[in-house]
Amino acid sequence: MQLRPPIDDETSVLVLTGAGISAESGIPTFRDAGGLWESHAIEDVASPGGFERDPALVWRFYSERRRKARTCAPNPGHRALALLERRLGDRFLLASQNVDGLHGRAGSERLVELHGNLFLSRCSHCARPPFSDEAEHTGALPRCEQCGTGLWRPHIVWFGEMLDPEHLERIDHFMGKAKRLVFLAVGTSGAVWPAAGLVGVARARGADTWLVNAERAENTGHFHHFVQGESGTVLPDLLASTSRW
Ligand code: NAD
Repeated sequence: MQLRPPIDDETSVLVLTGAGISAESGIPTFRDAGGLWESHAIEDVASPGGFERDPALVWRFYSERRRKARTCAPNPGHRALALLERRLGDRFLLASQNVDGLHGRAGSERLVELHGNLFLSRCSHCARPPFSDEAEHTGALPRCEQCGTGLWRPHIVWFGEMLDPEHLERIDHFMGKAKRLVFLAVGTSGAVWPAAGLVGVARARGADTWLVNAERAENTGHFHHFVQGESGTVLPDLLASTSRW
């Protein structure tokens, strides 16, 4: 019989998702053959230096990703998490490394998008807050109309950039106030930091830790439980009847 995370009325659940949860929606993971980066060096399209050198190339790349993400829909894995949030309310928090917006479209609200969101842009020069931008910028590059100087850039955390400290504080505060904590990681290879280290932080706070992944992740040994499989199939079952245990 499949073990399930013990979620009672005093339990808080922190979920970390990665590219794997969106694979069944048709969005390639980081490593998959035919994946995103096949025709580009990461440092050309996903680093501040790459944007400085060739912003048009970066915008062509992200415009294609916007186009692709728009054609995809949330899958049962995203929906199972949105459903769990509805049951738990403030005892639920979802931290995602994904930028595709599918968790939001599935109905998740208590959501920390650690690496940004494909459908937000910001000014590369001034402090104007990120704003909604669904356009594909393949012609003239958009320039900030508030400062008149900076180009718009995707609101994505690129390689070499820091995560938003407020996001990390929110996660830490959530763990700190939990009476009993379950940490569940889904579809993430455990190779990208600091997300890969969250399991260690959660364990240090006494969490019961679960990994749902199609294959062993680099940090599988750090979890109490590993459920191997596709999240669109595993999560609806794993989270189905966890309100009682
Ligand atoms: P990753 O590609 O490094 O690892 C994905 C993991 O998911 C793999 O271990 C794989 O075995 C597993 N997986 C594949 N299909 C699965 C399924 N159906 N169910 C469960 N597991 C499945 O992804 P990562 O750890 O998130 O790190 C990659 C980085 O690239 C992240 O920073 C992320 O922001 C970014 N990225 C985001 C997206 C997206 O927004 N959808 C897509 C690709 C990359």
